[in-house]
Amino acid sequence: MDPRKRPQIEAWIRYFDDLGLSPFYLDRAAIELPAAVAVQSAAATAVQAGARPAALTAPAAVPAALAEPAPRAAHASHAPPSLFDATLRVEGDSLSRIREDIGDCKRCRLCEARTKIVFGDGSPTAQLVFVGEGPGHDEDIQGLPFVGRSGKLLTQMIEAMGLTRADVYICNIVKCRPPQNRAPERDEVATCSPFLDRQLAVLAPKVIVCLGNVAAQTLLGTKKSISAFRGQWFDFRGSKLMATYHPAFLLRTPSAKSEVWTDLKKVMAELGMKPPKPKPRS
Ligand code: URA
Repeated sequence: MDPRKRPQIEAWIRYFDDLGLSPFYLDRAAIELPAAVAVQSAAATAVQAGARPAALTAPAAVPAALAEPAPRAAHASHAPPSLFDATLRVEGDSLSRIREDIGDCKRCRLCEARTKIVFGDGSPTAQLVFVGEGPGHDEDIQGLPFVGRSGKLLTQMIEAMGLTRADVYICNIVKCRPPQNRAPERDEVATCSPFLDRQLAVLAPKVIVCLGNVAAQTLLGTKKSISAFRGQWFDFRGSKLMATYHPAFLLRTPSAKSEVWTDLKKVMAELGMKPPKPKPRS
């Protein structure tokens, strides 16, 4: 067995044990996790340069060329569902049932220092879901995702798209704050992932936007850096998935805002939304 899969498998077994779904039988047929496959967005070319909203405006001069990168070749993925994919479907599942199943979670060490579990927030019928890394200080206190400094920027980004937070759904890879805002450890991610997987299966959004490396690498099962595949479309269990930079990174690196805005315009095109009109400069 690939030793890197071991913590994930152990977490899954513990999780299903918790739900009373053991004992387990090993299906010896090797099942490969389906590769995330870049797909061409039919609408990706529809949105050309539009206004860059204030939230995403880098202080440096904007490069003239804001045009979309050339669309990538489509590769159809017809891989059969993996063992994990098959077990993601819980009959009659709902967001409230998932929250109930999480309970006062003590499945990993992140419970020790957390104040509140941050389950997720927004519309249960959202077409667009943002997935971050994990709660920070403000989120831990309020029990809501992206309500601190990064959250304010994310809210501005959402509003720049012509949406409100109530139109989308926002959640994280892990639901409890890692101490000192460190990145979540692999076993913590593996323990929490089944609940996010179920949330995404219930929401079944058209588009998932991963914010930052941890979200992107977790959902796409890759170790590549986000800069290698940011702005590209992937298939994710029937949804289109794109990774873009985390708002916390944008707070440190405002010059990357223009790349994120390019990505968000592709998302808008995919959702059939009109590009925002350029705001007159005052
Ligand atoms: N950063 C995240 O990744 N998620 C949050 O909820 C807040 C900050």
